[in-house]
Amino acid sequence: MNEPLHVVCPSCGATNRVRSGDLGRSPDCGQCKQPLFRGRPVELDEAGFDRQVQRSQVPVLVDFWAPWCGPCRMMAPAYERAAQLLEPHMRVTKVDTEQAQALAARLGIRSIPTLALFVAGREVARQPGALTRADDIARWARAHAASNPAGQPI
Ligand code: ZN
Repeated sequence: MNEPLHVVCPSCGATNRVRSGDLGRSPDCGQCKQPLFRGRPVELDEAGFDRQVQRSQVPVLVDFWAPWCGPCRMMAPAYERAAQLLEPHMRVTKVDTEQAQALAARLGIRSIPTLALFVAGREVARQPGALTRADDIARWARAHAASNPAGQPI
């Protein structure tokens, strides 16, 4: 298993081809030279979300949250730690539903926080409610990624 995977740069949006065996070697973006993974959640707007979800060949985990939401703030530190556990084999992201209201409506996000996992452009799992332990978040994401192996991107 060392075929190139498409990894979308969180800084410039370029799609990089990274051999799966090189994911753990802190690859940099070929275009902007920034790290492709920083071990912390990436904030996405609607365009950034679409780019990651549609082009990434590593599963994309999304925390839909809002600044005024108490349970979201409770979950945030665990989510930060989960990013360290899951990257670079998963892209860990956050979407502020106050800023990206059209996206939240399009996806039918009814409560926050909501976790959702996207594999090969398709939503494969959704979990409303706060998970406040990093291990629980990582376990949930890995279980759903494992049962939905990435196919060809849409
Ligand atoms: Zn870049």
